Amino acid sequence: MKTVVALPGEGIGPEVVDATCELLIGTGLPLEILTPPQGAPLPDETQRAARAADGVLFGAAGPKTSAVVSWLRWQMAAWAGVRPIRFFPGMRSPLAEPHGIDYLIVRENSEGLYPGREGALADLVRLMPDLSDRTGRTVKDFGTEGRFAVKVVTPRGAERIARFACDLARRRQARGKPGKVTLVTKSNVLPKTDGLYDEIVAPIVRTAGLAFEHFHVDDAARRLVRFPHAMDVVLCMNLYGDILSDLGAETAGGLGLAPSGNFGDGWAYFESVHGSAPDIAGRGIANPTATILSAALMLEHMGLSDEAQRLEGAVARVYRDGKVLTPDQGGAATTRDLAHAVLAAYR
Ligand code: NAD
Repeated sequence: MKTVVALPGEGIGPEVVDATCELLIGTGLPLEILTPPQGAPLPDETQRAARAADGVLFGAAGPKTSAVVSWLRWQMAAWAGVRPIRFFPGMRSPLAEPHGIDYLIVRENSEGLYPGREGALADLVRLMPDLSDRTGRTVKDFGTEGRFAVKVVTPRGAERIARFACDLARRRQARGKPGKVTLVTKSNVLPKTDGLYDEIVAPIVRTAGLAFEHFHVDDAARRLVRFPHAMDVVLCMNLYGDILSDLGAETAGGLGLAPSGNFGDGWAYFESVHGSAPDIAGRGIANPTATILSAALMLEHMGLSDEAQRLEGAVARVYRDGKVLTPDQGGAATTRDLAHAVLAAYR
């Protein structure tokens, strides 16, 4: 028996997590699903249960449950976010040729501008009045009314995410993918911080025998829309990965479809890319596919690879049939209807 801790979050989180857990139980897999309490800070018993579990599945955070995701991602140091962007025939992509879109966004989860270190400009001016940009304008030239945010990058962070991305690219290469890492930064504007990623990542990828390319984030956004089939593993600094994974999700058919796995040293948890969607919460119409596919990634991580593939295959069949789809995909099915259809296809 393997243990799964399910933490729903809020908004549509509980709807999609409940439907996914019912589906997992319905598969007959030897899983015990625990739902310990949420709260801020996350209760000790929940932390203990999640640490001890074989798999952790999260729904979606909103303002009331941000402490849950803070613990899962930052306190537990899940520094690598893996966000597959994959089109299944039948998904409602806005692109003319979505068939075959299949790449990974790897988001560096622990550095950059997250999780927000901000302050009053007056304090920064007091500490570093002569900190200047490349035009010579200093911090004090802005006056003291205002605020600032701090972006932090380290060679350790860049190196470990580069090696992680290479590992994924090599594993995909073994399955016939091109074996390429695309780095996304904005080093033309931030040559020291983003430039550190350029300096460190390129040689690691090349030494690994993989193809390497680099695009600035604005160009990368355009390319993910225009040339999604040319992507394999797209390694993004934290904020860029956050933004581009919503964009990538949309090219494949929508935010309700995009799963993720978040990995640290000996720690992982799984969640949809989307948030709590307050605009549709409580209506039973949220698409559970992102959470179901996150559960498939979790099963894979738990060593249940065949079952994970079977679950993905079941999702693919439901979209191919096109009979049971939620409103975001042009259908009238409920969250539960879709999960039941996936279970029927799994069986
Ligand atoms: P969101 O992802 O919640 O929603 C964006 C849009 O996508 C909405 O129109 C929503 O209805 C739609 N959508 C999202 N998931 C869907 C689904 N499964 N099925 C159908 N439609 C879906 O983003 P937002 O509205 O900017 O943020 C709402 C809250 O979620 C905020 O508090 C934000 O901080 C939080 N958030 C949390 C996470 C996370 O838990 N990892 C990620 C993003 C946003």
